[in-house]
Amino acid sequence: SDPFGGEVKPRILLMGLRRSGKSSIQKVVFHKMSPNETLFLESTNKICREDVSNSSFVSFQIWDFPGQIDFFDPTFDYEMIFRGTGALIFVIDSQDDYVEALSRLHLTVTRAYKVNPNINFEVFIHKVDGLSDDHKIEKQRDIHKRANDDLADAALERIHLRFLSFYSVKTFYVNFYVTSFYLYLETNMMSISHPSAPSFYLTSIYDHSIFEAFSKVVQKLIPQLPTLENLLNIFISNSGIEKAFLFDVVSKIYIATDSSPVDMQTYELCCDMIDVVIDISCIYGLTGEEAGIPYDKESMAIIRLNNTTVMYLKEVTKFLALVCFLREESFERKGQRVFVCQGHKFSQLPGHGSDPVACIF
Ligand code: GDP
Repeated sequence: SDPFGGEVKPRILLMGLRRSGKSSIQKVVFHKMSPNETLFLESTNKICREDVSNSSFVSFQIWDFPGQIDFFDPTFDYEMIFRGTGALIFVIDSQDDYVEALSRLHLTVTRAYKVNPNINFEVFIHKVDGLSDDHKIEKQRDIHKRANDDLADAALERIHLRFLSFYSVKTFYVNFYVTSFYLYLETNMMSISHPSAPSFYLTSIYDHSIFEAFSKVVQKLIPQLPTLENLLNIFISNSGIEKAFLFDVVSKIYIATDSSPVDMQTYELCCDMIDVVIDISCIYGLTGEEAGIPYDKESMAIIRLNNTTVMYLKEVTKFLALVCFLREESFERKGQRVFVCQGHKFSQLPGHGSDPVACIF
């Protein structure tokens, strides 16, 4: 069954200056567009481009900052949108001058935080494909520092303002004690009321970094994550499978994995496998009137790599697939080790078919 009750989709807002790469990210991650094709994307003049996708586990919207997007524009109900948003991704073009972007980021974070203090703020330092590794780290450090300095300055300003008002208090001692008390209060309040510090990611649509970053952003929005990870841990420790991922098929974002480390190559192989499955199904699996993603309950694939590894993909829900890695030997023993999930326990079902993963959810 659908572990997410069908309803609770992570809602994400993608924001940033014009030409920072928002549409490209959307097209590459959610519409399988190849990165080179994004060169020809037309710029739109709309402030808000809606894309509440029906095909993906994630739903999201794009907001542009043209000249001056107005938080004061009464036709633009940003409060309502911020209220329903789980994560706000702010895209900064690392190949451009980012002073303007940083001031927008600052404005956005402070505004959004006021409306909804539970939003996760995520900054994509984007288009890093042209930069050397050293240069990437340097950019990240610089942007990180400037963004946080801005936010810290905002907090300091408030303290500063408070100090000024105390000079109207006549008695020195009263002034002293009241000031210390307020300073104490302000410092402690700051840690409570200060916007949650943004997280930073280096991204590019020309490699898997954009998918990896999106995966992290989405995972933070899934309250069931620890349970899913735990189930995947139990699953791999009992089934001869070495690594298991739960993927959103359309976006190739991974929702969860077991707690063994993820290396980029493994992740890329999963993405490639999903592409192969969807492409083959598109070519051979669609009948006339069917539209959309050719992915259903029957979807399943096995790919044998030439290094004795087997990859196994299986449909889990309308949006999600389980992708596993196992050794050829474990795979050959199919039929002997089949497990089923009952509540939080797995129990062995001897002779239950020959499909080692079909029973997990
Ligand atoms: P938007 O206005 O924020 O939606 O920006 P677009 O998606 O239209 O992108 C603006 C330009 O940036 C396009 O020409 C894209 O090809 C380019 N672009 C987007 N992402 C990347 C990236 O990761 N690396 C590079 N080098 N260019 C990118």
